[in-house]
Parts: sequence; structure tokens; C-alpha cells
Amino acid sequence: MDYSLLKELSQAWGVSGREKNIREIVLREIEGLADEIKVDALGNVIALKRGSGAAGGKRIMLAAHMDEIGVQVKKIENDGRIKVCNVGFIWAAAMYNDRVFFRNGIVGVVGCEGRVEDAKNDAGKLFIDIGCTTKEDAEKYVKVGDYAGFAGEYYELANDKISAKSFDDRAGCFMLIEALKRNKGDLPNDVYYVFTVQEEVGTRGSKTAAAFVKPDIGISVDVTPDHFYPCDLDGCNAVGDGISVTLGDPSAIMDEYLVDEMLACCEESGIPYQRGVMDRGGTDASSINLSNEGVRVAGIAIVDRYPHSQCSVISKKDIEAGVELIDRYTRRIFRF
Ligand SMILES: [Zn+2]
Repeated sequence: MDYSLLKELSQAWGVSGREKNIREIVLREIEGLADEIKVDALGNVIALKRGSGAAGGKRIMLAAHMDEIGVQVKKIENDGRIKVCNVGFIWAAAMYNDRVFFRNGIVGVVGCEGRVEDAKNDAGKLFIDIGCTTKEDAEKYVKVGDYAGFAGEYYELANDKISAKSFDDRAGCFMLIEALKRNKGDLPNDVYYVFTVQEEVGTRGSKTAAAFVKPDIGISVDVTPDHFYPCDLDGCNAVGDGISVTLGDPSAIMDEYLVDEMLACCEESGIPYQRGVMDRGGTDASSINLSNEGVRVAGIAIVDRYPHSQCSVISKKDIEAGVELIDRYTRRIFRF
């Protein structure tokens, strides 16, 4: 599999609500592959690949989010320091002493008022230094309301692992594009490949997309935290152990039948998988689940070490297993 597209997606700038650059890459990549492509008012990309019309075919909505976490400027101090608030969940200590990018390309370094240990994960204690020492000068480059995203280059590690910013959830976007490339319209199901906006600020894009698609089945394609090394979370998921079939997601209860079918699909096709339980966070499955008159949901996730940081780590092997699972799963006949 060629990972240059994942590299491009990970490096593109797209803080929640400002996903234009990602949307342009997605639209370029899926051109000619789907039967219908729509961009809705919030900016979700909804691509439909119709099925064969076989009896029992369902409408399946796959959702991967385009947005990434970041910060928004709330004040510029007289000494030129830029004060920010969170857009999505941020580890203040992870941003400290690192760089951020504004959409216009301006680069800043993140400092902290006092010791970062005392900031207690409060981004309000952080400031961004863009090299200006007066408010007037800083305002030539950055304005109140502007957004900034992480810098986090793409690197290859040992054992097919890769590290970069924003694998949450550009890895999911990449998997959806790769799965769409494999769908030749011979599946029993109509499959909607939905690239959502504003997931990190409360799974908002998937809410309006689900209202449009009216799916029978909703599947979030996202990342889930790794627990292999001692960290702030306890669990049994590990990068490189296969695609994670979501069994626990604090934001949605996965449909038992859909999960059983997904586990069976992995077993039958020899797809490396792990049983995934996430004890913090949420996914687009939550808003799809409660859309319309209720929708059965399931989840597929890439296990991600150091998530919500500039240097998250995932495995290419897990990506390949995930694309295979999406392809095989959307070929199934679902009986309900
Ligand atoms: Zn995510």
C-alpha cells in the first residue's frame, strides 16, 4: 500500500470547523470513484457508492473525521504573546515548547506562564510566541479568532510503525479512501463514505451527515488509545496487534449483532484484529446512533499510541487490516 497519501493527509492543516485543506485532498482522491458526491452545509464530504441492488442490501454509513484538535486565539497581550483556548481535548504539557502553525503559515512556539507542571492541563496558561514583542506587531500576523494546529512531521519508525500529528483521524480518512478504491459497485449494500467535520468538538458533522444519509448501519472509523506501555489509561490494546473492533466506547453502545458479524468477518477472512475497549473519549458512532429514529452502530479503530499529540504512533499493518475489514464487512448481507 502506498502511504504517501496518508503522509499528505497527516501534514495538512485542518483544525475543527476549518477542514477545507483536508476536504480538498479527499475530493481530489475520490473523484470518479463514487456514484454521488455531496458536500453539505457544515462541510462533510458524503460519497455514495451504490450496491448491486441485491435483496437485503442495507445503507451503510462509514464515518471518518477530517478535523484535528488545535487552539484558537482569544487575546493578544501587550508584549506580543498570544493567548489561546482549546479546540478539542489538548494535553497542555504536550504542546509546551513545541511549534504550532496558523492557517496563514505563521509559525509560533508554545510557552507557559510559570511551570508547565503547575498549568494542570489548562491551555489558558499557555501562550504562543510568534517572534513579536508588541501587540501591534503581532496583530500584523495573527488576529483574535484565528486557529492554530500542531506541527508534527511524518516519520517512519521500526517494525512498520509511523509517527506524525493528526493520525486521529487522517488514518481513518485514508482507510475510507482506500476502501472506496476497492469498491467496484458489486457489493450488496449501498455504502456511504463520509468524511466528517467537527468530531473533536462534539461529533457534530456526523450528526448532520446521518440525517442526510439515513443509514441502516453506522460505523465510525477512528483511532483508539494504545495501552501497551504504562500510561494514563489502562486496557489491553496495542499498536500492531491488528485492527481494533470496538466493543467499548463511552459515547455509544455498539450493536451486538453488528459486532458479532465484525468479529466473524475477521475470523473468516484471517484479518488480524484485537478487541477494543476505550474507557475515555468518543467517536462519530455516538451521533449516528441517536440520529433519525435510532441507528445500529459499530466501530473500527486504529490503535494509536500518544494520541492527541504531535507524534502519535500507529502501525501500517493495522491500517492494512482495517482496509481489508472495511472491504469484507461491507460485502456482507446483514439480516435484521
Ligand atoms: Zn478521532
